[in-house]
Amino acid sequence: MMNSIKNLTYDEMQKWALQKGLKPFVGRQIFEWVFSKNVESTDSMRNIAKNVRNIIEKEGPLSLLELKKHEVNEGDGTEKFLFSCLDGNALESVLIRSAGRNTVCVSSQIGCAMGCTFCRTADMGILRDLSSGEIVEQVIQITRLTHERVTNVVFMGMGEPFNNYQEVIKAATVLNHEKGLNIGARHITISTAGIVPRVREFSHLPYQFKLAISLNAANDEKRNELMPINRRYSLSELLKTAKYYTDVTNKLITFEYVLIDGVNNTQKDAQELIKQLSHIPSKLNIIPFNEIDSKFQRPGERDISTFLSYFEGVNFAVTLRNSGGKGIQAACGQLYHEVLLS
Ligand code: SAH
Repeated sequence: MMNSIKNLTYDEMQKWALQKGLKPFVGRQIFEWVFSKNVESTDSMRNIAKNVRNIIEKEGPLSLLELKKHEVNEGDGTEKFLFSCLDGNALESVLIRSAGRNTVCVSSQIGCAMGCTFCRTADMGILRDLSSGEIVEQVIQITRLTHERVTNVVFMGMGEPFNNYQEVIKAATVLNHEKGLNIGARHITISTAGIVPRVREFSHLPYQFKLAISLNAANDEKRNELMPINRRYSLSELLKTAKYYTDVTNKLITFEYVLIDGVNNTQKDAQELIKQLSHIPSKLNIIPFNEIDSKFQRPGERDISTFLSYFEGVNFAVTLRNSGGKGIQAACGQLYHEVLLS
């Protein structure tokens, strides 16, 4: 991992200062310059002595990402950002505007090891984990470029956040810290394909970050086909752990369900889903499949409504997410597409 003070949390920055023979408060000041005031170079750190600025610079680069491409979907205001890392790898982030919220969808890895058959990032395999600084900088750069405040962050870009657990949690605490980006913990959602031991671990974290699980099927047979991780952690194990999470944290869990024509959109699928979820305090988020040139198709609008109607009267909330950014290849599961082609 590239060395940089951008990879440090609030606590780590103070320890770093001590190691350099400085007072912890200098670490706190640097943390604010980097994450709250968003400075790009040490020259702007007015209250930091010149010799300390030199120490920071010796530690490694302050900027970890470079903007390569920026696209705006005029229709819904969704924006896509292609960044290159210092090692030349590329990653994408998306800004979604809705109802007064600015949500940034961040990537947590370059590529992904999950191999979900409907997801484009899977084609890439896993190249490497992103560092905490590279994750946080996606939000910093988007704030700087749009001159707008980012109100929400979702870990739903490229990668499996729970396969990069430590850096993802570090990034989330920096995004949340009041001296950092100051984004409310309840406005930060981490989405996983279902790494059961990490869900368990996440249940005991002292933060209010939200958890989403990509379910996508309501029985093992179908889930095995769509998400190979299900062969390692079965649906019943995953749902038992989801229930454990809601018991321990007293929070709702969000289940995501990518709706694919003829694959998981029958009445029987809905009935199985209702049976599985009704004993877990949860919300169900249905995402109509974004077509990429694969063997899967998005159901027609009528079929989507029909599927939704099966949930009338259930004891959990059901929402439909028509993920934005389709015109600019920025919708769920499409992020890898342009990286490769550009
Ligand atoms: N690995 C994590 C986060 C990244 S994927 C996870 O699995 O949750 C974020 C969401 O996009 C997941 O719910 C995934 O199922 C969904 N997704 C992936 N490809 C998609 C596509 N082509 N259309 C719609 N949703 C997709």
